[in-house]
Amino acid sequence: MATTIIEPGFIQPPSIEPPFLRQPNASVLFGERSRRLMALAQGHAMADFLRFMGHLAEAQQHTLDSQAAPVLPDTEQIMLCKAHGMPPLGTQTLLRDASWREGLSTLLERVAGQANPTTSAAIARLQTLSAAALEVFADRLLSGDYAGLDLAAAPLIGAALQVYWVRLVSALEPGDFPRPDVHTLCPVCGSLPTASVVRISGVEQGLRYLHCSLCESEWNMVRIKCSHCESTKGIAYFNIDGGDEAVKAETCDECNSYLKILYMEKNRAVDPVADDLASLALDILMDEAGYQRSGPNLLLFPGSHDA
Ligand SMILES: [Zn+2]
Ligand SMILES: [Zn+2]
Repeated sequence: MATTIIEPGFIQPPSIEPPFLRQPNASVLFGERSRRLMALAQGHAMADFLRFMGHLAEAQQHTLDSQAAPVLPDTEQIMLCKAHGMPPLGTQTLLRDASWREGLSTLLERVAGQANPTTSAAIARLQTLSAAALEVFADRLLSGDYAGLDLAAAPLIGAALQVYWVRLVSALEPGDFPRPDVHTLCPVCGSLPTASVVRISGVEQGLRYLHCSLCESEWNMVRIKCSHCESTKGIAYFNIDGGDEAVKAETCDECNSYLKILYMEKNRAVDPVADDLASLALDILMDEAGYQRSGPNLLLFPGSHDA
């Protein structure tokens, strides 16, 4: 009888590819963000604003936990999107069901007691809007059409839409999503990223992921490359003297844009949305240097912050 002797070291472990796409962890995402915001608020010049955002994130987690699975696009449509490299939960194609507005109601009730007078007035305005008016508001916000929008109310709509899209993306499988050739938009919903994160540990060690401003998915993009025009030339990094080492602005001289990049090796607790809100001073610096920000933060719109 032939015997095969396996020498030590002969068996290779299967190679594990880092994921192209990281779906959000819906059970902890907003709760962790809330804790991060509360921590960032301590001793911060914008402490009241960050604390309210912490309450808002807590309300997002509460809303998410209290809602059932949303209505998904049918399997045929998801497979069609995948075959054509299109986002299956695209903001321009998905028919939103009413549950996002139910989520908004829960969210508004939950944060009403924590709001300052300006935000309280914005909550009251939203509570009187018809379903049709809320849908128009959402459409405009999702298409980046902010002119004339109620900017004090926009972050609340943004927060409700984030909850809805996280519910959607959490109900799909990794195999449902395409791996498109263009890496500047979210492969799940087609939105722009809020920031990017250089991750730590395991197969993701040192890899950079762009973080979606809407559905909170993350997709891999190589480092030292513009997340807006994909140029690899003219990329530079800025941070504030004596400021947080974990947050930098990645600028591109080809398209004159910037997006923040967070380094988990400097602080493993960083959160793209929270740390972006807490580093507004860096946005002001980049604006003064003539760079345009390439992706939104749906919890803060120019002119919406009065803290
Ligand atoms: Zn997305
Ligand atoms: Zn660029």
